[in-house]
Amino acid sequence: MQETQALGRSVDEYRAPLFIAWQLTNRCEARCIACCEESGPNAQWGDELTREEAIKLAHEIVRAGTPYVAFGGGEPLSVPHCWEVFEILEQGGVALKIETNGSRIDEEAADRLAALPVQCIQISVDGPSARIHSTARPGSSFSKAINAIDLLTHRNLRPQLVFAPNRNNVDSIVETFDLARAHRCSAFVTGPLMRLGRAALAWDAIACSNAQWRNAVELLRARALGCESEIALAIYPHDILREMELRLESPQAILLIVPNGKVKLLNALPFAAADLKETSIHDAWQIYRQAWRTPQVREFISACQDDPRLLQHANETWSLKGGPAWQTHAGALAHP
Ligand code: SF4
Repeated sequence: MQETQALGRSVDEYRAPLFIAWQLTNRCEARCIACCEESGPNAQWGDELTREEAIKLAHEIVRAGTPYVAFGGGEPLSVPHCWEVFEILEQGGVALKIETNGSRIDEEAADRLAALPVQCIQISVDGPSARIHSTARPGSSFSKAINAIDLLTHRNLRPQLVFAPNRNNVDSIVETFDLARAHRCSAFVTGPLMRLGRAALAWDAIACSNAQWRNAVELLRARALGCESEIALAIYPHDILREMELRLESPQAILLIVPNGKVKLLNALPFAAADLKETSIHDAWQIYRQAWRTPQVREFISACQDDPRLLQHANETWSLKGGPAWQTHAGALAHP
């Protein structure tokens, strides 16, 4: 799953984050080849927030006045206390977004989701058939993902279908768009493959070429123009290197909370600015804003432009307060 992108205005315009992206766990039944977070069945962190800590944090988010929280991967619906967290946010007037592989959405879960203020549900489907999907998303069930889309659509919660391109599925992008239309998804969401997590580790083996991606985008746009359908087409225009530059120029009012409660600036940046087990949201927000202006962050983003292999560190959580310089953490990769 890819982190929800930009909301637009400068961080200095807000007294609290406008948007929180919260990863409840790093565990997932799937082991997708392009997972930004390297999630998997055995990938739960030893220090993930407990139920009590997560509930306390949900109440704090409500008090802070953050209007929108997005839950992403690992698989948020695999966390037993996820429903309690959603309900606290709902009662506090917070709108929700959920990014899921769909495997946990049965009739009962669909009913619970329909009762919540869920603005957007994204379900990942990486091909028009079980064969293509399971090559990209081992451990994730194509039929459960499609069934989840249907269950939600029947409750008028039309989900978005998210497609992550790789060199083996990119030629099936138009067929996957047609599948999203056939199942009445509200949007087909895609973008260049993000060089993060498992995709960064296997980049040379799985990334499609720029020419393949441009061709896929052209075919997709042509298909969308040529059909009359109530589906939006959303193609994120930037790769992760450009995204980092843009965020540095204009940081956004988005806190990323990883499973152990640490606050990151962006999923591509291996810096933990604050720890919500020890720091309030209010203080973390001030620290987050200052962290974007530190030389470490600026230098790391610049170094990634020269050596994108540094993105292999994205899921680490280096301290910005004291400790070694980022070059020490990055080790040999920074000095090949
Ligand atoms: S379903 Fe999402 S969180 Fe799970 S492994 Fe795949 S991309 Fe990662």
